[in-house]
Amino acid sequence: MDKDKEFSVKTCPVDKEYSGKSWSSGHQRWRKWSFIAVHCYILFHFLAFYVFDWPIWGKTAMIGVPSLAALNINAAAIMVIFILLSIFLFGRFFCGWICHLRGTIEFSDWIMQKFKIKTFMRLREKNLLLNTRYRWTLRFIILLLLLLPVMGKYAQGNVNLNLTPETMPPLVDLPGNEGKLFGERSPINMDIQFNVGDSLIAFGFVLLIVSLMSFVMNLAFGQGAFCRVLCPYPILFAPLMNLNPWQQKITRVGDCQGCRKCSQNCPQGIDVSREIHNFNGKVINRECIKCFRCVDICVSNVLANTSKPAVAQLTERKEYIRHPWQNNEEKHMQVFQPLPIWVDALSVIVAVLVGIIVSRLGGFWLYIGALFGLILFRKLMFTLMSAAREQHEKILEKGWGKR
Ligand code: SF4
Ligand code: SF4
Ligand code: SF4
Repeated sequence: MDKDKEFSVKTCPVDKEYSGKSWSSGHQRWRKWSFIAVHCYILFHFLAFYVFDWPIWGKTAMIGVPSLAALNINAAAIMVIFILLSIFLFGRFFCGWICHLRGTIEFSDWIMQKFKIKTFMRLREKNLLLNTRYRWTLRFIILLLLLLPVMGKYAQGNVNLNLTPETMPPLVDLPGNEGKLFGERSPINMDIQFNVGDSLIAFGFVLLIVSLMSFVMNLAFGQGAFCRVLCPYPILFAPLMNLNPWQQKITRVGDCQGCRKCSQNCPQGIDVSREIHNFNGKVINRECIKCFRCVDICVSNVLANTSKPAVAQLTERKEYIRHPWQNNEEKHMQVFQPLPIWVDALSVIVAVLVGIIVSRLGGFWLYIGALFGLILFRKLMFTLMSAAREQHEKILEKGWGKR
């Protein structure tokens, strides 16, 4: 059958309840296996480097971006080049299918739904995706922090193209570095030897820390929070998103009936049905991570990931298109927390300070300390600013607009 005709189903039954729980159907089943495979590979990598002394893969991918910025072309930098190339060719497929952090973030989402954690379900059931209006500034600051060692090198005029596989030290290191679980100065610690058992312990702690980060972020900001609020890498990805005319995109391949299930279920808060209405049948939003939840939820197969042009929309669209669905102009449905810019600026400073204090437990704890600092400070500000708190509570109770 002609592929385009096959997609041209003209109805959209909306009775299929879908909230991202279904990891056993559609694309989500394959995503689950992809994330499991990535974590198995990371474990193998860990053992290869620390136990079997195979340095060819490099120590950690964390230093990929700083290495590339410092023109130090090691394994991690090459990996980053491939990732950037993949974004140019396929969009942010890397984020939705391969990034280990996304795997942990979605695992936390699944656990919190399974255990029906009340604070989280309050956001999750309405797919309330909280954010700060200044998220791109936050991401930029975090990228700058990541690049601090490189800036130091540039300041000293110490940057040359370097093709040796040697890695540069990251700003903070993984548990297990330098033979200690949590770094030299930590009051709680244990020795880590380069053997399978100890490496597994160190790997387990890396997973624990990353999971903790995902839990607290999801609890405070809704599903997929770290990707939407703090991850600095979208700054590198976004400029590559709409350059390649052959890049596959979520595309209208049937007649959309405007049920908006796709928009209501996008974990990145993209207003999918509005995107395909306004941008020649394509989702061009740079936050799209190609998770295909919108494709899976649209039971009439109106959406597909393709580089082909979209089919024409035949049924007239409803007026809802013009409704103010969100308090921003960026064609997505994240809800900005009603806090002023100075609170955002201050929350970054508090986050960095708390991160530095907590990093006494070991460098990697800097991240989790910074997250707790950020979230607790914002909660405190909500408590002190009653008008902001009331507005925030209203959003949490009702959802946003006509959800
Ligand atoms: S936004 Fe960042 S954390 Fe999220 S999937 Fe992409 S690279 Fe990973
Ligand atoms: S594309 Fe979205 S709005 Fe349109 S029919 Fe499918 S789920 Fe409904
Ligand atoms: S637009 Fe679709 S594929 Fe992109 S992030 Fe949203 S649900 Fe996932």
